[in-house]
Amino acid sequence: MDKELLAMLVCPLCKGKLKFDREAQELICHYDGLAYPVRDGIPVMLPEEARQLEVDEKLPPSPGRSGEA
Ligand SMILES: [Zn+2]
Repeated sequence: MDKELLAMLVCPLCKGKLKFDREAQELICHYDGLAYPVRDGIPVMLPEEARQLEVDEKLPPSPGRSGEA
């Protein structure tokens, strides 16, 4: 997907930045715990179309993910 397009996209709910998951073809808002689908390269920015993230997916990517500090 176009990097400039991606930079323009924000979550329609919280207006936050989205993370593009290239493998899943989803735009992820960690704040709302939603994943917006990208269909044929076109982001579908509709909360009703978005997928609820699993609890595990909501965690921000962290190296190791060890220790609860
Ligand atoms: Zn959001």
